[in-house]
Amino acid sequence: MIGQQHHESGAHFAFTDRWGGVSAAPYEQLNLGGAVGDDPQAVRTNRARAAGALGLDPAAVIWMNQVHGRDVAVVDGPWRDADVPCVDAVVTARRGLALAVLTADCTPVLLADPVAGVTGAAHAGRPGLVAGVVPAAVEAMTELGAEPARILAYTGPAICGRCYEVPDRMRSDVAAVVPEAHATTSWGTPAVDVTAGVRAQLAAAGVPVRDDPHIPPVCTRESADHFSYRRDRTTGRLASYVWLDGEL
Ligand SMILES: [Zn+2]
Repeated sequence: MIGQQHHESGAHFAFTDRWGGVSAAPYEQLNLGGAVGDDPQAVRTNRARAAGALGLDPAAVIWMNQVHGRDVAVVDGPWRDADVPCVDAVVTARRGLALAVLTADCTPVLLADPVAGVTGAAHAGRPGLVAGVVPAAVEAMTELGAEPARILAYTGPAICGRCYEVPDRMRSDVAAVVPEAHATTSWGTPAVDVTAGVRAQLAAAGVPVRDDPHIPPVCTRESADHFSYRRDRTTGRLASYVWLDGEL
C-alpha cells in the first residue's frame, strides 16, 4: 500500500503504490484519485485506508483539484469538499496537516522545512514543469518563513525520461525553458524527463535535492506496481504525502 516512506527531522514523506485498496479494474486496487471515473465510495475507502496506514486522520489530508497550472494555495486547515481549489501546489505552516499530490506519470514533489514548520506539495507534469509550479511552491513556502537551503525535497514515482516520448518540437519547446528535461527514449526518439527538469528547478531555487536509499527512483510506466496513464490510459492515481509531526 505504502510503497515508500521516509522520516527526517520530524518530516514525513510517503508514496503509495497501487496495492491494498478496494477499487475494481481498471482502477485496482488503491486508486486515490476522485476524478478518474472510479466509484466515489471506493475512493473514500481507499483514502481512509491509506491515511490509517500512515497514522493520519483522513480529515487532516489536503487534496487538490489539479489542473496542470502554476497556482499555489496556502492552506491552514482542512477545507470543505466544495472549497477544494484548482491548483497544482499547496503549502502550509500547520504541523500535523498532510499535503497530498495525485499522479499517474506526472512528478509528485514533496517539500518540508522542519525548522520553520512549513511544508509544500506540488504536481508537476510537462505543463507544470514549463509553467514553473515547483519554483512557485518554493517561493510560497519562503513567504511562510521557510529557507530554501533548509528545505528537504523529494520527488516520487513518475514516468522516466527513457519512457516519456513526445514530438520533437515539444521536446524543443520544453528544453528551451528547462534544458535539463531534454531526453531520449530507450528506443531512440525524442522524450522529456520531467523529474530531471524539476530537480534542476529546485537546485536553481537553492533547494538541495535529496537522493535517499529509502526512496529509490520508480518509473511508473515500467512498474507493474504503479498506475501509469501513458501505459494504461484509464487507470487510478497514486498519492504522495508530506507532513510534519505535530497536533493539528
Ligand atoms: Zn521508464
